[in-house]
Amino acid sequence: MIPILVFFVAHWVLSIFAQTFFLHRYGAHRMFTMSRGWERFFYIFSVVAQGPSFLVPRAYAFLHREHHAFADSERDPHSPLYHSNVAGMMWNTKAKYDAYAYRRSEPETRFLGGVPEWRTIDELSQRWVVRIGLGALYAVFYLAFAPSLWWFLLLPVHWLMGPIHGAIVNWCGHKYGYRNFDTRDVSKNTLPIDFITMGELFQNNHHQHGADPNFAARWFEIDPCFQVMRVLDAVGVIDLDGVPAARLPAEA
Ligand SMILES: [Zn+2]
Ligand SMILES: [Zn+2]
Repeated sequence: MIPILVFFVAHWVLSIFAQTFFLHRYGAHRMFTMSRGWERFFYIFSVVAQGPSFLVPRAYAFLHREHHAFADSERDPHSPLYHSNVAGMMWNTKAKYDAYAYRRSEPETRFLGGVPEWRTIDELSQRWVVRIGLGALYAVFYLAFAPSLWWFLLLPVHWLMGPIHGAIVNWCGHKYGYRNFDTRDVSKNTLPIDFITMGELFQNNHHQHGADPNFAARWFEIDPCFQVMRVLDAVGVIDLDGVPAARLPAEA
């Protein structure tokens, strides 16, 4: 039982870190800079961490920039205001995500630019043989260590980890919690210490200060990802004071 629990928690933490640190704060917002080498490292890190549910960074960035520009209006790709349940919201999000991820359409030009791109990795990660292979690796681990078949019910969570984190953030962060700022949207801060999604659930703070790498705003709020980023900045992996290559276009 212990290896399974450690594996589940480790996968959860690494996957949400990849999403909030690399896809969101770096890819979509350019809140900090890093060298080309480290960018490639975190690109691969995100593939390993998210596995079969790896989200293509450029598609994530375009969708997320639209979310900020149209937050909680009809053009928001994932506002809970327009869906009666979380599955419907995510289905709508998936259609828009796929269009960008498979390069079937492009966003408005103001949302383009300044996104990490590695086309070979994107295309490899989208092949079903790769996705199924990575998913099977999780099943092998469960076959080796799960004490009973009930534990296999956790496997779909591993397979869909990226979208599950997105669903939690997009649904709860615009529906449940408290507000520090009177933003145009209905964003909320769901938890004062966001240990579930490493800071992503400070949606109200983040919509107010879209370029601030620290999602916590008040004395009692703690953003775990930002604490990791301070360490990465101190050891020279990232530069929190670097001149951003591009700001969030919607806010430029
Ligand atoms: Zn954002
Ligand atoms: Zn939001």
